[in-house]
Amino acid sequence: MIIKTEKEMFEQYLTDASNYCGKADVLYIPETLDELKECIKKCNSEKTPITISGAGTGLTGGRVPEGGVIVSTERMNKIISINEQIKLVTVQPGLLLVELEEELSNHGLFYPVNPTEKSASIGGNIATNASGSRTFKYGPTRDYVMKLKIVLADGEELELNRGETFAKGNHLEIKSINGKIYGVELPVLKMPGVKHAAGYFIKPDMDAIDLFIGSEGTLGIVTQISLKLDRMPENLLGGIAFFDDLDRLFGFVKRVREGSGKYRYDVDNKIPLNPPLIKGENNLLNPPLIKGENNLLNPPFEKGESLIDARTIEF
Ligand SMILES: Cc1cc2nc3c(=O)[nH]c(=O)nc-3n(C[C@H](O)[C@H](O)[C@H](O)COP(=O)(O)OP(=O)(O)OC[C@H]3O[C@@H](n4cnc5c(N)ncnc54)[C@H](O)[C@@H]3O)c2cc1C
Repeated sequence: MIIKTEKEMFEQYLTDASNYCGKADVLYIPETLDELKECIKKCNSEKTPITISGAGTGLTGGRVPEGGVIVSTERMNKIISINEQIKLVTVQPGLLLVELEEELSNHGLFYPVNPTEKSASIGGNIATNASGSRTFKYGPTRDYVMKLKIVLADGEELELNRGETFAKGNHLEIKSINGKIYGVELPVLKMPGVKHAAGYFIKPDMDAIDLFIGSEGTLGIVTQISLKLDRMPENLLGGIAFFDDLDRLFGFVKRVREGSGKYRYDVDNKIPLNPPLIKGENNLLNPPLIKGENNLLNPPFEKGESLIDARTIEF
C-alpha cells in the first residue's frame, strides 16, 4: 500500500473537477482488498473520517476531503472476468471507463451507459449513478449493476446481488458475509419520476443494491462491480434535427420518448413502467422486444440489419 503524508505529494487529491479544494492528513492507496480493509478498520477505531477517491472527475466535490484521510481506489483497477455468454463483466472499482470500453470492444461487447467522461473510474460511476449521452435510451449506471461488493466503515464486507435482498416496506435488513446483520429504517421519500442523481435512492420494498448505487461513498466503499453488457452495435447513428417551432420540437421528444419509453417511463403519468427493481419484471436489460417494433431508438442490432429510415417518421 502506498501511503503519502506530505501534503505536497497528494495535492491533486484535495480537489476534483468542481474545483473545490479541501484538506486531509494522509493519502492511502491500497492495492488489495486486505490493505483496503486494514486502513478502513484503523480509521474506524480512531474515528478518523475517510473520503473515497476515484478518478476525481466528479463535478460536485464529492471526493473533496474535509479533513481525515483519503483512500484512493486507483490501484484496485483490474478486470476480474468477462463472460461473453451471459454478457457480464466483473471489475475492481479503480478501473477507468476508457479501459473497460477498450477491453470490451475486443470481445464484441458494449457497456451502453457512456457517462461521457471516459477517465472516470467505474467505482465513481457507481457511487454517482452516472448517466450520459446514451441514458435517454439505455438508462443510467444503476440499470446495469448486477452485483456489488462493498466494505463498510467497520470493515465488514457486503456482497449484494441484484434481485436477492429486498426491503420489507421501509425496513431493510442486510447481512454481511460474516453474518453481521444491519437493520435500516428507510425514510419515506417521493422519488422524482425523471432522471436525477441527488440523494439516496429510496423506495418501499426496494432492492438493497440500489441503496448503495448513487450513495457517493457515504455508506461504504465499493470494491467489486459486476455489470450487465450488451452486444456491440454494428452501427451508431448520430444526427441533428431542426424544428420550426417549440411545439414540434417537444412533440418530437415525446414521440421518441414514447418509442424508447416502452422500457423506461410513462411520460404522461411520470411513472416508471418497468423499474429495474422488481424481480422478474421486464426492464431495460430484459426488454419485451415485440417483433416488428424496431424503431429509431430501438434499433435492430443484428448483423446486416439497418436502422429504420428516420425520414419515414412524421412529426
Ligand atoms: C468533462 C466531464 C464530463 C462529465 N460528464 C458526465 C456525464 O455525462 N454524466 C455524469 O453522470 N457525470 C459526468 N461527469 C462527472 C463525473 O465524471 C462522474 O460523476 C463520475 O462518475 C465520477 O467518477 P470518478 O471516478 O471521477 O469519481 P470521483 O470524482 O473520484 O468521486 C465521485 C464520488 O464517488 C465516490 N467514490 C468514488 N469511488 C468510490 C468507490 N469505489 N466506492 C464508494 N464511493 C466512491 C467519491 O467519494 C465521490 O463522492 C463529467 C465530468 C467531467 C469532468
